[in-house]
Amino acid sequence: MNHNTFDINNLVRKNVRALRPYSSARDEYVSDGSQMVFLDANENPFETGVNRYPDPQQRNLKGALATNKGVSAHQILLGNGSDEVLDLLFRAFCEPKEDHIITLPPTYGMYHVLAGINNVENNKILLTQDFEPNVPEILKLANEKTKLLFLCSPNNPTANSFNNHLVKELLENFKGLVVVDEAYIDFSKEESWISKLDQYPNLVVTQTLSKAFGMAGVRLGICYASNEIINVLNKIKAPYNVNELSQKRALERILDVNAVNKEISDILLERERLSKVLGELNFVEKVYDSDANFILVKVDNATNRYKQLLENGIVVRNRTSEPLCENTLRFTVGTKEENKKLIRVLQQITTA
Ligand SMILES: *Cc1c(COP(=O)(O)O)cnc(C)c1O
Repeated sequence: MNHNTFDINNLVRKNVRALRPYSSARDEYVSDGSQMVFLDANENPFETGVNRYPDPQQRNLKGALATNKGVSAHQILLGNGSDEVLDLLFRAFCEPKEDHIITLPPTYGMYHVLAGINNVENNKILLTQDFEPNVPEILKLANEKTKLLFLCSPNNPTANSFNNHLVKELLENFKGLVVVDEAYIDFSKEESWISKLDQYPNLVVTQTLSKAFGMAGVRLGICYASNEIINVLNKIKAPYNVNELSQKRALERILDVNAVNKEISDILLERERLSKVLGELNFVEKVYDSDANFILVKVDNATNRYKQLLENGIVVRNRTSEPLCENTLRFTVGTKEENKKLIRVLQQITTA
């Protein structure tokens, strides 16, 4: 793609282009820290810690993320989990019944569900046998109606990161937005694509606090993109989409860099230990390399093994019905104690 001619307005839905967003009371007045009397938003004035509307632009949280990631706060949009962020991309760029997206199964199931909810056709191009994007097929299929291409890297459930050269080729040649879902990037050896935002106007990177940051219950998803793309998404997001409690807890956690890093390195050590043990079990046919906090394993009979684990109090994910994933199970890496129990049960069912 000739990036000099890239104009985000050519991708935005007509109604969104024309839209004037709702302006909330707290959009119009931003505190400069001085003591004010707030009689603008019909709130209950009695203090509970949460009686005021939250900051619709989540400035504190974005400020901390911008510093950590080396981007501008204007390149960030926050949502109620990545799922909201991904949904906003559909709603901003995909005309129902007209536009399409491309996904690369086996991958995260929400892209297909969101396509269905938004009445947008999902064109699937299977990953290659080594779980890489099939670039020629993707580019052959794409046309001016193909607004979004979802690349999940590290990919769920295969656990590998995509080859950087292939991602680059897609960024340079796909004419819609390339959404790189980096839910597992904090476990990866690879660098985030965030550092390439200024190079690729069609790049959107999503991250989440649900995995490495240990905050799945807080529901905080993050979108990094050009300021132009972020402005479009801001137009259509609900004004108070990230609640006050989530903003507070997320900020505390983001600032606690050492604690997060310690947990990540513990999980990575456990991942290596668990991968090795899994490879030694006689019903295991293959342990795939992992660049995330889970391990994909090919076994003799995934459905039977899944049931045996359940009977022993362990829940894993059976991926056998996914393309290229016949007889695979996906194991999330737990704590040392949890993994010990898993290993004990696995050894027990081996001999049973
Ligand atoms: C877990 C996961 C997410 C996280 O979604 P949230 O809504 O932020 O919890 C996003 N993408 C992928 C590929 C995931 O596996």
